[in-house]
Amino acid sequence: MKKNLKGIATTIWIGNLLVIVALLVAFYLAGILSAAARNQPQPNAALNLPAGSPTRTPRATVTPLPQASLRPSLTPWPTPSPGPSVTPMKMPPANRQVIGYSVEKRPLDVYRFGRGPLNKLIVAGIHGGYEHNTVELADELIAYLSDHPEQIPTDTSLFILRDLNPDGSARAIGVEGRTNANNVDLNRNWPYNWKADWDRDGCWIWRPVTGGEYGGSEAEVQALIAFIDALKPGALISYHSAALGIFPGGRPDFPASIRLAEAVSQVSNYPYPPIDTGCDYTGNLTDWAANTRAIPAIDIELTNHRDTDFAQNLRVLQVFLSWRP
Ligand SMILES: [Zn+2]
Repeated sequence: MKKNLKGIATTIWIGNLLVIVALLVAFYLAGILSAAARNQPQPNAALNLPAGSPTRTPRATVTPLPQASLRPSLTPWPTPSPGPSVTPMKMPPANRQVIGYSVEKRPLDVYRFGRGPLNKLIVAGIHGGYEHNTVELADELIAYLSDHPEQIPTDTSLFILRDLNPDGSARAIGVEGRTNANNVDLNRNWPYNWKADWDRDGCWIWRPVTGGEYGGSEAEVQALIAFIDALKPGALISYHSAALGIFPGGRPDFPASIRLAEAVSQVSNYPYPPIDTGCDYTGNLTDWAANTRAIPAIDIELTNHRDTDFAQNLRVLQVFLSWRP
């Protein structure tokens, strides 16, 4: 038995030794293999790194550049023109009247503010389409005065014709929208110094247009003549765009129009005297108003075809409302 026990113990001891040796060999081989693996060149090593590793270079090196370069170009935008264009328009129906219809039977809407005996008139959109920002300005002024009726002096009534050429506005917000539905330039159709055609040097030439069959041939002009003759406004502004400045109505000069232009130029950046392109402006509204009705009248050209210059035209409005010939 003793001899047998001793043999069994020897066998177990040898077995343990063999297991230990086998484990050592196994660890050794594993060490060699992993070392070999580390030393082997691995061109795709970067792709095998776990996500989010700080050594994933592409994101870190690309992001700072576009952010830094985009930021300066974004800065001009946070301060848009301070007009109340976002405010929902409040237009009491009692203030609105239809003074006539366009060739295509669209209404010509006039909004009234104040109840005083001295009438002032603002006309927008006589050149439709690409001068549509004048209509947007009229809408902003209408919305503003609906919220601030106290801005109208007690002796004054202000009338705003928001769009004299709704057919042009409906056709296109572009050069194709300039004329009415008869292809007549509504600022060439007034029955004073009227011409069907004119020398185009220095004038608008982007589409063929006419002054109409005769002075006052167009429905829009007829409606506004009837309204002006009933209203007898003490002063008139006709809004256009863009850029040429403030034109006093009158040919020959009408001094009261010049004084109104000077007063408006003091509170605005619009060029006065206006930029002279050499154009012969026949049959236009403000010359007709000044020379045939003795109404001080000016054309104001907004800065471009997009902006309403609202803050600037609020100052113009205040001067216009308090102005006396
Ligand atoms: Zn115009």
